Order: sequence, then structure tokens, then C-alpha cells
Amino acid sequence: MKKILTLFGTRPEIIKLAPVIWAMERHPSQWQSITVSSSQHTDLLRPFIKELSISVDHDLAVMTPGQTPSAVLARVIEAIEPLLIQERPDMVLVQGDTTTAIAGALAAFYARIPVGHVEAGLRTGNRNSPFPEEMNRRLITQLADFHFAATADNVKILLNDGVQQQNIILTGNPVVDALQHILACSSASSALSQLLDSIPLSQRIIVLTTHRRENFGQVMTSHLRALRRFVEKHEDVELIFPVHPNPSVRAVVGAEFIDAKRIHCIDPLEYADFLHLLSRSWLIVSDSGGVQEEAPSLGKPLLVLRDTTERPEVLECGVGKLVGHSGDQLEKMLEAAILDKSWFDVVRHTINPFGQGDAGERIVSAVAQFLESKETKV
Ligand code: UDP
Repeated sequence: MKKILTLFGTRPEIIKLAPVIWAMERHPSQWQSITVSSSQHTDLLRPFIKELSISVDHDLAVMTPGQTPSAVLARVIEAIEPLLIQERPDMVLVQGDTTTAIAGALAAFYARIPVGHVEAGLRTGNRNSPFPEEMNRRLITQLADFHFAATADNVKILLNDGVQQQNIILTGNPVVDALQHILACSSASSALSQLLDSIPLSQRIIVLTTHRRENFGQVMTSHLRALRRFVEKHEDVELIFPVHPNPSVRAVVGAEFIDAKRIHCIDPLEYADFLHLLSRSWLIVSDSGGVQEEAPSLGKPLLVLRDTTERPEVLECGVGKLVGHSGDQLEKMLEAAILDKSWFDVVRHTINPFGQGDAGERIVSAVAQFLESKETKV
């Protein structure tokens, strides 16, 4: 039996690691799964752990008010080290590009425990954008022994970075598994149903999420103003905006959307509700990474509030369009969307570049293979 320690600390990490943990739990004679939460985020993470039926074996409880990436990194490394020594797992799995992920990878490397990186090989090519995630990704690639890539492009990036082919496997992105599972076994909460029922079915709903550090301040203000102008101009458009708790977001939203008609600012939604909301949307506008994978999984068009993306597949398949940082550009693209039915037709028929919903199982069988090949070499 192999012991695998899975580390997560934020909402996107648990969404994408849950299918991997479920896959191990389906084969209890082969795997001992140890789940560790850094609690880098607490309020945003906790409901997701519950919703995705994950039981946390160890909570590192690192979050403090006003924390900086350096402080989180230091606390996670310090807190996880004794656990690694006590548990001696056969592999540590981390996901994506968060401070928790880089801290876990580094601590495991120091403890000489193999590191597996889920969602490996994403790059924007700009080391400062997104900040600090792009640098975290690059460093995790250096630290990891095994790389689970979501797309063929991600595999190429890893090969260009000097990773050996036998240590990379193409698995698809487990967000697709999580999304399919949650949509199949949930319905919208009464609060969300009430909101959606209050909006006539003929209305076009835009779902907005924005909370990236690069967009704070002027950029976010100009995006929100453009959205407000667009909604005011088109009476058949409503905007629903689950507002991130970050005070830098809340301050701008409070100033820009006050008394705005047909704009509904709500608290962040749990995953099932968020997916049900996206499913009912006409168009998504977002700067999130995960949403770029969810839009093609749900067949919804997406305007990406960034000037660059580490997920070019969403643009190449025709689902997403890059807006950049200008509010005027966003307004132009919204106006074009309302006229351009062909974009919506393309989106409906796109094949999802992020996989078919079997990434969790693929990752777990690749972990088994990697560990076996390591033993053979020893
Ligand atoms: N999400 C959610 N509720 C919300 C907003 C987002 O469940 O109110 C989910 C969304 O579906 C996506 C994830 O949170 O899978 C994205 O998280 P975030 O944007 O914080 O991180 P990123 O994906 O950019 O790393």
C-alpha cells in the first residue's frame, strides 16, 4: 500500500485535488490517503472541503490577518516539516501555483520525499503576471519529480523547461471531474434559486468574478464602470457578481456599483451554486484561472479580464477572448458579443480542451506507475 499526502490551502486547490483524493479512496487496498489543509484561506476554503466530502487529517492553520506570501510560505514549511517526518509518505501531491503549493513542494524536497505536481506546465511567459503565481509555477516545476499536465501544450512547456518525458503524463484537468460530479449530484440552493427566479428567463445574465492582484485599483474600476454602462444601456441584461471578500475588491465594488439597476452583488458562492449560476449565464466575465477551464466545460462564452493567460487553450478553442486591462476595450467586446451570435454557436460545439472528467483516475494510476518505476530503478 502506498501512502500519499495531499496538500491544499485555497478553493481552487481543493476543487482540483478532490477528484484525485476520491480516486484513491475508491481503491482503499492500494492507497493510504493523508489530507492536509494549510488553511492559507479559511473562510473561502472550509465550505468547499465540506461540499466536496473531503475529511482533513491535519490542519496547519497558518492563516493570519494581512498575511504576506513570504509569511505564508514560512509558516507552511515550518508546520509541515514535522508531519512529513512523522508520516514519511511515498509522495506529496501539490496543485497549481499557490504559496501553499510551493511551500509543500519545497518542504517535501528538503525531506527527500518525491513531489507530484497536479496542473503542471502552465505559463504566461511573464514572470510578474500573474503575481506571484507565475514564479511559483516555475519553481514548483523545478522542485517536482512527477508532473501531471492538463493539456498537450502544458506537456510541451515542461519539455522545454528540461523536464524528462518519462516524468510527465497528460491527464486532463481534474476540475472537469469535480464540475461534472458536483453538477450531477446537487441543485441550486434556495437563496440562489430565489435570485434566479426573480430574473425573467428572457434576460441575459452576465456572471462576473474579479479579484486578481494585478487588477486591483484603476484597472478594476475601469472594468466595473464599463460593465455598469453596458448593463444600463441594455435593459435585457443583468449582472450577477459574487464579490470576493478581499477588502481591495469590496472597496471598489461598493463605490462603483452603488444603486446600480440590474446589478446583483452577492457573497461568494459555494461551488455547486456557482456552477449552477454559470450554467444559467449568457456570458461570463472573469479574471479567474479556474473559470477559464469551467467555461468550455459548460459551453459558456468567456471574456477574460487579463492581458495574458496561462491557459491559451481557452482562446484557441474559441470559448474565451482576452480583454486586457482597459474598460473601453471590455465595453467594445460586450457590445460585439450582443451582436455576434456566431461566437455563441462556436462555443456550444467546442470540444473541451481540459479533458473529459477522468483526470483524477488518470493521475492516481500515473502515481502508481511513477512509484513503481522509481522502485525498479533503486
Ligand atoms: N468559485 C466559486 N464560487 C465563487 C467564485 C468562484 O466556487 O463565488 C470557484 C470557481 O468555480 C473556480 C474557483 O472558485 O473553480 C476559482 O477560484 P479563484 O478564482 O479564487 O482562483 P484561480 O482559479 O484564479 O486560481
